[in-house]
Amino acid sequence: MAVFSQQVRHWMEEAEAKIDSRLKQIDKIVDVNQWKVIEAFQKQQVSDFHFAGSTGYAYNDRGREVLDLVYADVFGAEAALVRPHFASGTHTIATALFGVLRPGDELLYITGRPYDTLHKVIGKPGDGTGSLQDYGIRYQEAALLESGKVNWDEVKRLITPATKVIGIQRSRGYDWRESFSISEIAQMIQQVKEIKPDVIVFVDNCYGEFTEEKEPTEVGADLIAGSLIKNPGGGLAETGGYICGQAKYVELAAYRLTAPGIGGEVGAMLGTTRGIYQGLFLAPTIVGQAVKGSVLAAAVFELAGFVSKPAWHEPRTDLIQAISFTSPEHLIAFVQGIQRASAVDGHVVPEPWDMPGYEHPVIMAAGTFIQGGSLELSADAPIREPYIAYMQGGLTYSHVKYGILTALQNMINRNVL
Ligand SMILES: *Cc1c(COP(=O)(O)O)cnc(C)c1O
Repeated sequence: MAVFSQQVRHWMEEAEAKIDSRLKQIDKIVDVNQWKVIEAFQKQQVSDFHFAGSTGYAYNDRGREVLDLVYADVFGAEAALVRPHFASGTHTIATALFGVLRPGDELLYITGRPYDTLHKVIGKPGDGTGSLQDYGIRYQEAALLESGKVNWDEVKRLITPATKVIGIQRSRGYDWRESFSISEIAQMIQQVKEIKPDVIVFVDNCYGEFTEEKEPTEVGADLIAGSLIKNPGGGLAETGGYICGQAKYVELAAYRLTAPGIGGEVGAMLGTTRGIYQGLFLAPTIVGQAVKGSVLAAAVFELAGFVSKPAWHEPRTDLIQAISFTSPEHLIAFVQGIQRASAVDGHVVPEPWDMPGYEHPVIMAAGTFIQGGSLELSADAPIREPYIAYMQGGLTYSHVKYGILTALQNMINRNVL
């Protein structure tokens, strides 16, 4: 057994006593989502034969077709496209956006600057990379107000007849802002549609799935996307992404993923189907474990003297726990501590590096079964002021607890705490 100092154990005990009632609230959300998923499986009569892999064109792969129907039911959407062929969340989001936008159209993000890896998807006019703007799709964004809320005056000013898609990012990503709850997203959609009824509302749902009782598509979002190596993959999906929403938009995204006229009717699942189904089945419960771990981290690091966002008692709509440290040494000791607590690659020591798609050096703890899988306990910290570490995931609460203890002990051992 690892040895943790008395101070570290004391913080942990105090935090666990404090969060007890919060954990019970999370169990209720787990029940709602777990039952929703089971009922979707039952409605579509999922059977063992659906799990078989397919090869070649994979015409009439019934497992793939039913998987799309199950996702559509779970997300309260008309249609879904769930595929291992999406290489990442960024690829999935790009596919959705390129699917529905055409040259001369405009994309307007109303939740401020989107997640780092999307900057190059949006690109610049004439950048030669095949980005949205390179294709003549215009881009605008309305920065959030200081309060972290949408700046509606600015949104009204920026919406033009060319505005085709409104972008909303549910999760904070690598930003020190609040994430947007489902009820806030519902209000945003209503307000946007009052200004321009025919606009397509797209929600980047990454990290949000199953953290609340509803999803954006259940409150009026036209198109959403997310990654299968985050929440809805349940830690079992080996790769992939999903897009859900109105059938006509999902079809356009499918044309973009494969080819016009072909769409979702081809695409060999190889051996991935069972993992994607079983991962979806487990996802509500695993997400519950991860959210509980985030609440615990917020409570413990608050006792240790740091500011956490969200605070332990605040409502949650994603997995991400941001913790504000005071120096790069804290970030590095924290992230290396999380890594050391991993079952996989616990012996590896992460260092900051220039990751493709990111604008600052990033240090990442990712001792995961699925490479980069961030429903598994992982931590990321861009090395930039004001020294905020983002942790997320944990397939089991007990692992997150062990990770927090190890990170704190690592900080104490290095004299930064
Ligand atoms: C993770 C994430 C993405 C991108 O997903 P990748 O799999 O890292 O490409 C986009 N948006 C948000 C909010 C995310 O959390």
